[in-house]
Amino acid sequence: MQLTASPKFGFLIDMDGVLYRGTELIPGADRFIRELCKRDIPFRFLTNNSQRTRRDVVARLVRLGLEVEDRHVFTSAMATARFLAQQKPGGTAYVIGEGGLLTALHQHGYAVVDHAPDYVVVGEGRTFNLELVEAAVRMILGGAKLIATNMDPNCPTQNGLRPGCGAMVAMLETATGVKAFSVGKPSPVMMRAARKELGLTTDETCMIGDTMETDILGGAQLGFHTVLVLSGGTKAEDLPRYAYRPDVVVPSIAELADMMDVYAWCPPWRTASAKVCPASFVLGPTSFDDLPVAAMSSKE
Ligand SMILES: [Mg+2]
Repeated sequence: MQLTASPKFGFLIDMDGVLYRGTELIPGADRFIRELCKRDIPFRFLTNNSQRTRRDVVARLVRLGLEVEDRHVFTSAMATARFLAQQKPGGTAYVIGEGGLLTALHQHGYAVVDHAPDYVVVGEGRTFNLELVEAAVRMILGGAKLIATNMDPNCPTQNGLRPGCGAMVAMLETATGVKAFSVGKPSPVMMRAARKELGLTTDETCMIGDTMETDILGGAQLGFHTVLVLSGGTKAEDLPRYAYRPDVVVPSIAELADMMDVYAWCPPWRTASAKVCPASFVLGPTSFDDLPVAAMSSKE
């Protein structure tokens, strides 16, 4: 039996809302990842959450039942540190954020300081307070550049939503009149770096995500193929208001695995473009006017 998928392709996979919700694994996520490993289809988990290190993320995924390794994880903290190291090697940063961001900056030769930094870098965290904000405002007005790991306005939790990095950055932007430069999805800085991690071309790369404003927008802007799952923050009825659309829409990653099973794990956009994609795997026209067309479109 031929297990190696041909042609070459791979996935960038968002985590929250795609693989799990809160502390619960989304059914089918484990099977999907197992199949990718078995078939040598390259993938990276792409998260805007800068709070955790690569290792922390792996530990969490393994606890949920996913067999993954450090190399499979790419966070906005890693993308931010890598970007800053390219922009200004050996620079300094004042950080409002946690372990994932601090570790990544240190690993890229950055010193974390609290006086006259090159950059003020903001990531997710639970220690945000006005003292930190006041210090950051002083530094930004003194010439430090404002960097956001991401601009997500909020993040889902078991209890609803918590303010995201974007909400904290907005406070600094308002206070200083300085606009932040954001590195996380949908920024091409992170999307392109992740694609290069896969070692694939644009047309061989597919982004799977649950958020139109980050995963699907970022994928569309970079020219990647895109798969929207409805197991997270986006509902089918939200889709018509966006100027861009995913190539394929599925209820969850389980249906994507089913769809790929049927076609021997060929790239989903190829099977969809062959107009043989079973209607049961994608949304019907009642929930998204022209979705069958979207599902069957091809970039080639
Ligand atoms: Mg998500």
